Amino acid sequence: MADFPDRSHWQALAQQLSIPGQAFIEGRYTDAASGARFDCISPIDGRVLGVVADCDAQDVERAVGAARRAFDAGHWSQASPAHRKRVLLALAALVEKHADELALLETLDMGKPVRDARRIDLPGAVRCLRWTAEAVDKLYGEVAPTGPHELGLVTREPAGVVAAIVPWNFPLLMACWKIAPALAMGNSVVLKPSERSPLSALRLAALAAEAGLPEGVLNVLPGHGARVGEPLALHMDVDVLAFTGSTATGARLLQYSGRSNLKRVWLECGGKSPHVVFADAPDLDAAAKAVARGIFINQGEVCTAGSRLLVQRSIREDFVHQVVAYGQHMQPRHPLDADAPMGALVDAAHLDKVMGDIVRAESEGARLLLGGHRADVEAGGCYVQPTVFDQVSPDQALAREEVFGPVLAVLGFDDEAEAVRLANDSRYGLAAGLWTRDLGRAHRVARQLRAGSVWVNGWDGGDMTAPFGGYKQSGNGRDKSLHAFDKYSEIKATWIQL
Ligand code: NAD
Repeated sequence: MADFPDRSHWQALAQQLSIPGQAFIEGRYTDAASGARFDCISPIDGRVLGVVADCDAQDVERAVGAARRAFDAGHWSQASPAHRKRVLLALAALVEKHADELALLETLDMGKPVRDARRIDLPGAVRCLRWTAEAVDKLYGEVAPTGPHELGLVTREPAGVVAAIVPWNFPLLMACWKIAPALAMGNSVVLKPSERSPLSALRLAALAAEAGLPEGVLNVLPGHGARVGEPLALHMDVDVLAFTGSTATGARLLQYSGRSNLKRVWLECGGKSPHVVFADAPDLDAAAKAVARGIFINQGEVCTAGSRLLVQRSIREDFVHQVVAYGQHMQPRHPLDADAPMGALVDAAHLDKVMGDIVRAESEGARLLLGGHRADVEAGGCYVQPTVFDQVSPDQALAREEVFGPVLAVLGFDDEAEAVRLANDSRYGLAAGLWTRDLGRAHRVARQLRAGSVWVNGWDGGDMTAPFGGYKQSGNGRDKSLHAFDKYSEIKATWIQL
């Protein structure tokens, strides 16, 4: 890949890289109050990258206290939208300036190809910060349509202290989807990155301070779900909980809210997204390529992964053959190689989970067409081959449960009604795609699909202008677009008798 630096470039950069390991509270890096730390292990080769503060409830107290003090002081919460915009634009510029470093941290920490980190995650994070910053001084309130003797004002206010709990698959990007609108609205934030990928969020904290964010407005607490996430979600002084992660954890967070202060809980959870290919697709080759990329990119560790291929039976055999051919070319490589189509899974525990799902699919009678084994890329690393199973029945675990790895389930259908029924036969509703050249069918099916994002003749389309989130057990609320501000604001009605 001539236009992208090779492995030696990234290895040289890695030699000089400083690994951030401390929590960030009230404007400075600090150890966990208990002094506990955990090893941060790279899934590329099992090497220990550094040690990271293992925060707990004491640190949650410190960080939420700092966030509340900052909110009440008003230097940020009461600042003009134009000022907040300037600071967030400065942060976007710093993230862009440090894009190589942040991309490398991401890859070393969670195993994705550095080319994807640099070309997808980093530009996505910068665009999110910029777009959100640019939007915030263009949000107007409303004047209610009253009679002549009243004036009704509808205004937005920041909600207060926001806890953001995020996963490991797009660590920096998911963090930015939360913190950008939360900060832009004037809230204070306590960010908890996944224990499997804390590094980029810890680095981001210093960049935010450098950009001019006041002390205490953004705090970052690395550590484990049960030790940091749970006390954060139970805290009586947290107003909003914004989460991206699994549906199981999302369900717990709703309980924590109910057991504490009814804080608002916004969930972006898992998916089992159907990729529906009709025989009249405008370009079957493009569709096959999109199906392969849709499940294998980022090692399949994508909430919107097209993990169920629903293909019309009249074209099934040839089409699946084409998908397998494209999948064959997406074998994992060393993530620092410029042309690695896939890298390593996030860690050994997740590798075991994915391999367990593969073994189960075989034992339940699915037919293995591609892969199915670990890939031997680097000693001590966590690599799995791109894997395709055909003859998957709708009641098998592979058709129902999220693998969150590079494993595709193929199911067949005969007509449109069956396609829609199978596509919606899931507790999830995050995304869905369909391929057809029939305009009427495209609209009909898109309307019937119970999913927050529907893609027609493509996969994973969208940008900051389009909202993102799920139906059903894939969550509630929306990230990105102007809708994201709703999560982080209170709407006040002020009624004035004239
Ligand atoms: P996870 O639910 O295990 O962890 C997510 C975060 O929650 C982590 O920071 C973790 O430490 C924390 N956590 C875990 N237990 C907790 C508890 N009891 N209390 C509070 N916090 C807790 O999910 P994951 O394995 O990190 O991520 C993979 C999942 O995320 C997949 O299901 C994937 O579909 C989903 N995801 C969804 C989206 C989306 O936008 N819908 C995007 C990316 C990932």
